[in-house]
Amino acid sequence: MCACSGESCRVRRIMLLDVAVIGGGPAGLAAALVLGRSRKRTALFDGGTPRNATAAYIGGFVTQDRIAPASFRHTAHEDLRAYPSVDLHLDTMVDRIERAGAKFRILASGAEYTARRVLLATGMIDEPIPLPGSRELWGTSLFQCPYCHGYEVADRPLAFLAPEPGEAPWVQLLRSWSRDVMLFTNASVEVEPACRVALAEASIPIEERRIIGLARTGRQLTGIVVDGNVTIPRSALFFRPVQRQAPVVAGLALALDDRNYVRVGEDDYETSIRGIHAAGDLMTHYHGALAAAAAGSKAAHSINHGLTVDLVGQGLL
Ligand SMILES: Cc1cc2nc3c(=O)[nH]c(=O)nc-3n(C[C@H](O)[C@H](O)[C@H](O)COP(=O)(O)OP(=O)(O)OC[C@H]3O[C@@H](n4cnc5c(N)ncnc54)[C@H](O)[C@@H]3O)c2cc1C
Repeated sequence: MCACSGESCRVRRIMLLDVAVIGGGPAGLAAALVLGRSRKRTALFDGGTPRNATAAYIGGFVTQDRIAPASFRHTAHEDLRAYPSVDLHLDTMVDRIERAGAKFRILASGAEYTARRVLLATGMIDEPIPLPGSRELWGTSLFQCPYCHGYEVADRPLAFLAPEPGEAPWVQLLRSWSRDVMLFTNASVEVEPACRVALAEASIPIEERRIIGLARTGRQLTGIVVDGNVTIPRSALFFRPVQRQAPVVAGLALALDDRNYVRVGEDDYETSIRGIHAAGDLMTHYHGALAAAAAGSKAAHSINHGLTVDLVGQGLL
């Protein structure tokens, strides 16, 4: 069911969209704003499950520093409602995208739309660490990005879980926020000799036992439990979660890079399927709200440019 404002009902009558934006995080919202200001008939579909849903705030977004994720979206929706060519379909999942001649058929919650262009802005899906409590701690004590959350846990005991040997030296970055930092290998990463020397010289301990649990009080991490049932007091754990693409993107069989992000053109953000573009977390390992918004905005510029030229060529503009 579509839980958007009355405005959205008009979309059911406007069967032909200029652009369907799939995903209403920072990337999709920024793109829809550009498209609305370019007077393109745009529908923004958002399932309402952002990556940062469990976080209390978005840190580091200029003029919006530490805004709550829900407030960020609410403000963006209000901005978009000023543009009559944009319709919001909130809490609406797009189930399938199919080619229909030179256009695309969008199937969303039982309704069908046709769009000249598609922008995928579906973010990534994070898999929790397979340990009890990790879901509850994700976004409050378990984090991916220290630039987003390091400031708020500054001067506390911090941990980094290395996903592979080459990334172990990354733990040194946490010294920006605390003297007390530790590297965890979970008994599965062999730390290279040069890294061992560097960390020893910097007095950064390496914990090589297997992690068997997370000690917590509510949504606050208090320690990391390793083999032997030993609890090492830590207030926050930084790690890179395993991620996967949203099913609607996976179903398109787009070209991906070696880390499973959607491959796009550097300037036009076009995927391996002509007419389908992608912006935000799903096309880069560099994840941040501002970067995603910037990508969405740039992708929308490119889409609008190409589309306008096409429409002019067809005598439609
Ligand atoms: C816990 C956590 C905390 C973070 N904190 C910060 C921070 O403090 N500062 C910062 O800059 N960055 C932070 N980030 C990173 C930031 O949230 C992301 O980089 C940013 O949200 C990516 O924006 P996006 O638009 O690409 O994707 P998302 O924000 O993930 O939005 C994607 C949207 O697409 C929708 N969607 C998916 N599939 C479909 C479909 N089939 N149909 C319709 N809609 C669909 C989802 O429901 C979702 O709303 C954090 C990330 C996490 C995980």
